[in-house]
Amino acid sequence: MASGGPQQVLRAIGDRTIRVRLGHGLEIGGGDFVVIAGPCALESTEQVEAATTAVKKAGAHALRGGAFKPRTSPYAFQGLGEVGLKLIADSGRRLHLPVVSEVMDASQLPLMLDYVDVLQIGARNMQNFALLRAVSKVRRPVVLKRGFGSTIEEWLLAAEYLLDGGNDQVVLCERGIRSFDNTLRNTLDLAGMAWVKERTKLPVIVDPSHSTGVRTLVTPMSLAAAAAGADGLLVEVHPAPEAAMCDGPQALTPEMFGLLMATLPGVLHATGRKMAHPEPLAAVGGSR
Ligand code: PEP
Ligand code: MN
Repeated sequence: MASGGPQQVLRAIGDRTIRVRLGHGLEIGGGDFVVIAGPCALESTEQVEAATTAVKKAGAHALRGGAFKPRTSPYAFQGLGEVGLKLIADSGRRLHLPVVSEVMDASQLPLMLDYVDVLQIGARNMQNFALLRAVSKVRRPVVLKRGFGSTIEEWLLAAEYLLDGGNDQVVLCERGIRSFDNTLRNTLDLAGMAWVKERTKLPVIVDPSHSTGVRTLVTPMSLAAAAAGADGLLVEVHPAPEAAMCDGPQALTPEMFGLLMATLPGVLHATGRKMAHPEPLAAVGGSR
């Protein structure tokens, strides 16, 4: 494991589970399952409202949505920036749900802290050590995605930057790695997730969206993640995936997300667990 020393030198290793406080009274790491859902990118007032209302109605515990998008092509939609952050922060307030969004650069931190409950460090930035150091100094929980070319050791050492700098509110997120096979967008390393879950004290979640790239695989991989002991999911949902500006093929429709949320409790029950409190919530502005 960690170069030059036994595993125990890592702050992330150990039995004592760290509970990460995501905001609005929601915790992850205590055993109950947390679902964070929303669109890949925040696109417009209408899209954000439709997506966030739908996931809340289905029982999501927290909202996701990118305002700063790390895109392979500079010509692709780069995100709405602060306008997007305002939209998702408004939804979070309206729906009483914590908000997760990606910080791409340390210079964006002051702005992000004004709007989001949880910072996301993306796969492409997992080894941006200046960003890790900067985020280690703020009092805000972090979802740290595994780099798609990163070993588990490198992932845990990235987490170590956050812990060593003073921020132990770290949630690890397995989001798929690149393998020799490019049939799917990535290869979901579910066994790696379970290994990390067994050996570290940090909560570990799974992103079934980027790890597959295929909408129909998102539900089965989500259920598999729940059965394998993940602490939760980070899942992309779009009110009209065919019109999405980013990652449409992997976005669940609100109907598919509703079905997933209805199926998860049975799988969790079978493995002695349950959904996080609050339980899937009753209606937002009407009956379900
Ligand atoms: C995302 O969650 O929207 C994202 C860009 O993910 P990743 O960093 O895993 O590619
Ligand atoms: Mn995406």
